[in-house]
Amino acid sequence: MSNAVRLARQELLAAAQDNPSAKADADSARAREEKPKESRGQDPVRLTSLPDPTGDHPIPHCAASAKPNEAPDAILLMESNAAALLTRCFDRAAAAIVPVIDATGGGRGTWDQRRADVTIVRPSPKAIEDAIEMLRPAVHRLRALPRETLETDDPRLILLARLFVRDRALAPRNEVKARETFVYDDDVVIPGVAAIAEQLTTLGLMERKFADKLTICPHCASARLTVRENCSGCGSGNIVEEPIVHHFKCAYQGPERDFRRGSELVCPKCLQQLKNFSVDYDRPGSIGVCHSCGHLSTEHKVGFLCLDCDSHVDAGNVDSRTIHSYHITAAGRAAAAIGSPLHDAGDGSVGGRIRAFAKRHSTLGQPCSVLFARLQTPDNVPENGHVWRQTCVFFSRILRESFTSETEIIDAPPIFLALLGCDRKAEVERHLPQIRERLGRYLALTPQLQLAVFSPDEIPGVADRPLKVF
Ligand SMILES: [Zn+2]
Ligand SMILES: [Zn+2]
Ligand SMILES: [Zn+2]
Repeated sequence: MSNAVRLARQELLAAAQDNPSAKADADSARAREEKPKESRGQDPVRLTSLPDPTGDHPIPHCAASAKPNEAPDAILLMESNAAALLTRCFDRAAAAIVPVIDATGGGRGTWDQRRADVTIVRPSPKAIEDAIEMLRPAVHRLRALPRETLETDDPRLILLARLFVRDRALAPRNEVKARETFVYDDDVVIPGVAAIAEQLTTLGLMERKFADKLTICPHCASARLTVRENCSGCGSGNIVEEPIVHHFKCAYQGPERDFRRGSELVCPKCLQQLKNFSVDYDRPGSIGVCHSCGHLSTEHKVGFLCLDCDSHVDAGNVDSRTIHSYHITAAGRAAAAIGSPLHDAGDGSVGGRIRAFAKRHSTLGQPCSVLFARLQTPDNVPENGHVWRQTCVFFSRILRESFTSETEIIDAPPIFLALLGCDRKAEVERHLPQIRERLGRYLALTPQLQLAVFSPDEIPGVADRPLKVF
């Protein structure tokens, strides 16, 4: 832009503030400025500002204001909480897919910033221009999307398109304010985003990669645990490391404080004074002394305190949770680019699997039955703790080994189902004592084991049925 044009425009804009009729002149001056840029072949990015799309905002030359009813290429947030307007101004899909620039200056962790793809501190034309240049590849991919994708109601397709446009994965970010200690920022745009990504994984449109494994509280699933070393005698955290003194002559060794008599060291066993280091005695290491009960130990119990529910949990009883990042596959890219409706993942629920099994056998005219096993958690063992989880894993393994390899086993701890093809209920019931003996034999904990057998006609609602315990 020439200086003359710039000056003329500034005058017009200044005049427009006092005189509404000059506003039209200012607008047309702006339009004249934009024209040469377009004719230079630089395709302007259509920008919509929020909260006021018609307001006079510093739009750089590489951009133009999107016309009313025109889908923008990017959205500019100008005031705090403007992100809340996104879903009011646009369709659900467009609000999630169109790239967003946060110019509110609100800072890290704010609602606007979590919604934004690019954050700028101040909305100067230069800063906005830089942001647009960063987003240009995303805008290019956005424009390639078909209308079907931009107007879909399917959150799965919305997520695919959102990641496709941004050319990135769905990845967790550490967040101390969350009881899980991580968040997927995309969750503020598409609620329940991780579950949706799981569904897309089942369809082969996304793939999971290991991101982290968290230690979590077995009572409330919080990952906000603090670690502490506790006395293995009394459980107190009041443990102090002290050097061990070793008296050569009588071979006694113990913490230094037992030898200490003022400035001298005296062996508590033989009462001889220890004078010369490495002649009379040495210090072979250190030991933890519990100042609450006096217990000596080189190994302390590692325990956790849950900051959310105040539970003290032993290391053996904590739970764990693996979290993933989700990456769009080639098939996923194609699905976003084509915009055709996605398939259903099928009914993978326990009830669905049992019904499908019963149907298969009735079609073939074969008998079948379902063995239902439930482990009752012993008292004082948290259901979500490591020890109990291992017991369930082990039980599932024994159950598998107890039947032929074709037998479908459903794990829904503490409930386990064996789908027994070609076996009638009465036959299985006759063998229940042997089955019980075999299943119970190897369990480390001694949980109560409930077993029951169902015939196909009893299968609907099998999980809700009061159990006949054998
Ligand atoms: Zn102690
Ligand atoms: Zn001694
Ligand atoms: Zn807890």
